[in-house]
Amino acid sequence: MSILHPRRPTRQVTLGDDRVGYVRIGGGLPNRDGTPTAPAPVSVQTMTTGYTYDIDKCVAEINRLTAAGADVVRVAVPEKKDTDALKQIIPQVRVPIVADVHFHFQRALEAVEAGVHKIRLNPGNINDRAQVIDVIQACKARKLPIRVGVNEGSIIERKDKQRRLKELGEFFSNNRRGYLLAIMITKLEEYLDIFYEQDFYDIVISAKSMDAVTVLEAYSEISKRFDHPLHLGVTHAGPKETGCIRSVVALGSLLANGVGDTIRISYASDAVYEVEDGLEMLYSLALRERKGAELIACPTCGRIQVDLISLVQDVRKMLATDIRLPIKVAVMGCIVNGPGEAEGADVAVFAGDRRGIIYVQGERVANVPEEQILPKLLEECKKFQARVESGEVKLGEKKVEIIPPDPIGELGSGWEAIAEKKRGTKPGTAQLTVGQS
Ligand code: SF4
Repeated sequence: MSILHPRRPTRQVTLGDDRVGYVRIGGGLPNRDGTPTAPAPVSVQTMTTGYTYDIDKCVAEINRLTAAGADVVRVAVPEKKDTDALKQIIPQVRVPIVADVHFHFQRALEAVEAGVHKIRLNPGNINDRAQVIDVIQACKARKLPIRVGVNEGSIIERKDKQRRLKELGEFFSNNRRGYLLAIMITKLEEYLDIFYEQDFYDIVISAKSMDAVTVLEAYSEISKRFDHPLHLGVTHAGPKETGCIRSVVALGSLLANGVGDTIRISYASDAVYEVEDGLEMLYSLALRERKGAELIACPTCGRIQVDLISLVQDVRKMLATDIRLPIKVAVMGCIVNGPGEAEGADVAVFAGDRRGIIYVQGERVANVPEEQILPKLLEECKKFQARVESGEVKLGEKKVEIIPPDPIGELGSGWEAIAEKKRGTKPGTAQLTVGQS
């Protein structure tokens, strides 16, 4: 039995067109016309980092993010030259595009006119009722969804004190983030009333913060009060190295509790990492069917006798470019855990003394010197992929029990070779013992 909570049912929205394809977000509740919907797979979004008006670069970035697996790509449109550019960008890409609109409602209208697939509005900076209605009507005419994103940073300055805010403030009075949560929910209720009055329900909600606990609390509370799909994110999460932890803690916890329909991990880094890490999180939670190989690798320890850390990076790159099936590949440092992992993986290598023993579904197929591990492993992965595709074998089938090789005589010289390679010293001159590197 899964320990994950079932997905929270929501009112599904759809974005895209026949050319770029359609992405559904949320589901589980009937459509407005009563048609039942099933929850769509959690989608991965990201955002370009370059200027939208720089058309060729923007197209190249969008295509790179699409190739990495992004389901939806958002672009900033601060100026009219950006929305003008969208007219040329959209026909050149193969993914639904979202226009991220702040301050100027005209940018939303121009983006709709340019053929964008969804609009993101920020209630913190587009809150003139007539302007919001104009955007709603433009989207309604083209059947485009709107994300309402109440980011902590853009609503915190709100000055007005309303009855509802006071009520919620009391409700959250035991919570140190209560006031912020109350503002977020009050703002959402007030803003969404405009949408409901216009009979507009193709809505996605986000409530991002830079603080992971605030994100957890905000989305948990919002999920109890609204039935629109939720776009999860930790905003301004920082560089990948720390932003990854903050994002995965918050988003992973929400998703494990059934909350969240689309995600964006945001890094101060190449947006491809946002896509890769978002997908890996969804694969790890079994919320998406894995595309491409799954890599298992040991962390290495004082028993290692090959340069496994470099090897793992090379294998990762090789699998990303050459393997399309979800083949499980294990790269293990020694015979302590190697055989056990090799049995569980489709293709596995475990290292000995500057050698690698390669197994395919438990069957030993090669014993090669260290420098041949990578090409041989790739060859075996490709051969295995072809056999799966021809129907000869199935993924995850174990053929035989592995009998580990006798380790005696296999220990001793590997560390020295690794040290020589790193230091550029002559073979046999490095003074490194096991446990140092
Ligand atoms: S597989 Fe071997 S080398 Fe790798 S961590 Fe385990 S014991 Fe150490």
